Amino acid sequence: MPPLRVMKFGGTSVGDASCIARAAAIVKSAAAEGSVVVAVSAMSGVTNRLIDAAHHAEAGEAEFATKLVAELRRQHNKALESLVRDARRVADVDKNLSQVLLELERLLQGTALLKELTPRALDAISGMGERLSAPLLAAALTELGVSSVPVSATDVIVTDPHHGRAEPLMDHTRARAEKVLRPLLKKGVVPVVTGFIGATLEGVPTTLGRGGSDYSATILGAALGAQETVIWTDVDGVKTADPKLVPEARTLDEISYNEAAELAYFGAKVLHPNTLRPVTAAGVPVWIRNSFAPEKPGTKITGRGGSNGGVKALTAIRSVTLITVGGPGIVGLTDVLARSFAATASLRSNVLFVSQSSSQNDICFVISSADEKRTVEALRDAFAPEIAEQTVEHVSANSDIAVVAVVGENMHGIPGIAGRTFSALGREGINIIAIAQGSSEYNISLVVEADAMQRAMLTLHKEFGLHEAASGSPGAHTEDRSAEQIPTGVSLRK
Ligand code: ADP
Ligand code: ASP
Ligand code: MG
Repeated sequence: MPPLRVMKFGGTSVGDASCIARAAAIVKSAAAEGSVVVAVSAMSGVTNRLIDAAHHAEAGEAEFATKLVAELRRQHNKALESLVRDARRVADVDKNLSQVLLELERLLQGTALLKELTPRALDAISGMGERLSAPLLAAALTELGVSSVPVSATDVIVTDPHHGRAEPLMDHTRARAEKVLRPLLKKGVVPVVTGFIGATLEGVPTTLGRGGSDYSATILGAALGAQETVIWTDVDGVKTADPKLVPEARTLDEISYNEAAELAYFGAKVLHPNTLRPVTAAGVPVWIRNSFAPEKPGTKITGRGGSNGGVKALTAIRSVTLITVGGPGIVGLTDVLARSFAATASLRSNVLFVSQSSSQNDICFVISSADEKRTVEALRDAFAPEIAEQTVEHVSANSDIAVVAVVGENMHGIPGIAGRTFSALGREGINIIAIAQGSSEYNISLVVEADAMQRAMLTLHKEFGLHEAASGSPGAHTEDRSAEQIPTGVSLRK
């Protein structure tokens, strides 16, 4: 059997006709070597605009919907016309786009009429961008002579019904992938599957969470037993820090699943936090590569993750809230943690960080700010009797914070990393509000004031020599390997 590779293209990698053409060329060269399944995001910015329109509709503003649908039609048709010459093919794709846009308009108008936006409707609306981009990329491939069809992931990725953050049901997904995708692959067709979305067993559309197309790619890879997954994005690979915060951040050659998962979990947008879950057990490599510079090698994510010890990378996350449950009376309450996390679990709010003072006067934890209101309400409910008796003095929320994490799988081999972290931040006058370090020592995470986040990142990046030559921090490459060594794109890497 020819090797099978899943390739995912992010929003900027399909941002306009020239980007889509570049993505199609990458897929074409991979398809010459083996089978390829593509997962594609919406054109950049489209998902945000859909979500925005859904909220306007909820406020009863129907005209906003009409305007958005017209804009999306113009944007996608413009790309279509510059990508595809054949008039019949243009008409076919245009028909497909029109159907999706009609469905979108109906959903938005219905929401505006009811002035109610259910999580189910929001998922159906926010997933439309992928249903518009997939036919474009498939048509661009066909135009290049690569047989390709768009496939809606609602027919392949079966999920639980948790709207906005659905999880795949892998047995069902595997069966669907065999039924829908395998026959296409056997015929040499490249399926272009919509990222980000799935559907329940009953066929109700769901989404995998923002940035979820990365997850779609590894779900498809695991379902089909692919040899590797390549995530094509707008940066050269996984870097020592977000280059938007730390411009001198360097690209890492190789990192481990654990390190990458830790970075993603703590906000490194380059990967959806669950991306590595489907492939870790089988040890299937995931590559992060730059669709704007396919000659560059990118970062390989594996079980081993390269050889270096110490700090590998930093990450930071904003839009998070520090929740504190406290008061002198909680000292004697042995079930505070259990009840707090039962409340967060019931809402599926992700807890990013937990810290407890030894006196048990206070427990604090960090969640996404999007979950703040519901979480505080749930906690106040859970501790209502104690709050009434003033055993629990407060359940408070502070959203003016950020979490900075220092990540490296082998940090435990090197003493003093925590000390250096605190000293460096202390020298800069950066106040640390809370600290957590797991016993695995993959990361040390710190809560700092939001305003100090970037300064903390720049300080720690320098402190750990992450921008220095390879000797200071093995695993990062200082310059790109030569074009002779690196095939321009897509050979199956070992
Ligand atoms: P895509 O649309 O391809 O999914 P995203 O915008 O979701 O791309 O993710 C890529 C972005 O992730 C980069 O532009 C970069 O700013 C950000 N990022 C954050 N942390 C890192 C990191 N450690 N390494 C690389 N990129 C990072
Ligand atoms: N388009 C979706 C989003 O913006 C999914 C993705 O880009 O991965 O969240
Ligand atoms: Mg992304």
